[in-house]
Amino acid sequence: MALVTSKALLQRARQDGYAVGAFNANNLEMIQAIIEAAEDEQSPVIVQISEGAIRYGGLTYLAEVVRAGAGEASVPVVLHLDHGSGFETNVRALQAGFTSLMFDGSAKPWEENVATTTLIARAAHACGIPVEAELGQVLQSRDQVTAKQVSSHMTDPDMAGRFLELTGCDTLAIAVGSVHAMQSQEAELDQERIRACAAAVSVPLVLHGSSGVTEESIRQAIAGGIAKVNVGTYLTAGFCEALRTASAARPQEHDMRKLLGPARDEVRARVREKIRLFGSSGKAQAVPAGEFAGPDFAAVE
Ligand SMILES: [Zn+2]
Repeated sequence: MALVTSKALLQRARQDGYAVGAFNANNLEMIQAIIEAAEDEQSPVIVQISEGAIRYGGLTYLAEVVRAGAGEASVPVVLHLDHGSGFETNVRALQAGFTSLMFDGSAKPWEENVATTTLIARAAHACGIPVEAELGQVLQSRDQVTAKQVSSHMTDPDMAGRFLELTGCDTLAIAVGSVHAMQSQEAELDQERIRACAAAVSVPLVLHGSSGVTEESIRQAIAGGIAKVNVGTYLTAGFCEALRTASAARPQEHDMRKLLGPARDEVRARVREKIRLFGSSGKAQAVPAGEFAGPDFAAVE
C-alpha cells in the first residue's frame, strides 16, 4: 500500500494501549529488515530517518526506498523524519514525501521551541502531515550525563499541556528517564510522570532512547500512554555485530551480499522482538485504510 501518515495509527495505538515502533534506518538493508519484520508480525510500522541518515544516504534516495518498500508491503508504513532540527529540514522532508515530521526544539528556549513547532505544524498540516515535537530533553549518552541531569531535563506535565495548546503538534516526545544511544538496558522510566503527561495532553506520547530502558519499564510506559517508541541503537548495534561475525567467519569473502545479508537478518529479528514487546503484532488492520489522513503522495506523482 502507499505510505500512510502516523496520525490515525498513533491515535488508535494510544486508545487501545499498545505502541507502534519507530525504527531508525540508514541504508537499504535496514529499510528492508524493518518493513519485512512488520510484515512478519502483521504490524503497522514507522521507518524513521534522522538528519545523520540523510547526510549518509541522501534525503530523496532514502525516501524513495522506503516508499518502494511500503508499496510492496501489505501493512501500513509511515516515513517519519526523526529529530528534524529546524523549519528548513522539515519543509524539505515534506517536499520529499515524508508522511510524518518531527521538530526537536527541546534544547531551545521555550519561546523558540513553541514558535518553530507552531510554524512547522502549520506548514505540515496544510499538506495533511502530522508533526511530533519534544518538550523536556532526552539527553545523549555520549555526553556522559548524570542521573541528576536526566531528572532535571524531564518534561513538566503542566508545561506539556500548555505546549500542546499553543503549538497544535500531533504527538509529543517526553523526557521521562531515558537517554539516547545507551548500550545496555538498565534505565527505569518515571512512570508517574508519564501518567501525568498522558492526563495533561490527549495526543499520543513518544518515547525516545528506548534501547537503554528495561523491558518491564517499557511495558508500563505503554500502558501509561506512550504510543510511539523509537528504536535506533539496538538495531545498529545488531547490524554491526552480525557484520563483524560474518566478516570474521569469511575473511576472504568478496561478495558483499554474504556479509550484509546476515546483518539484515539480525535487524529483522530485533525489530520483530520489539514489535512484540510494544504489543502491535496483528494490529496492521486496526485502522481501516479509508481513515488514513493526508494526501496520497503515490497518487500525486
Ligand atoms: Zn530521539
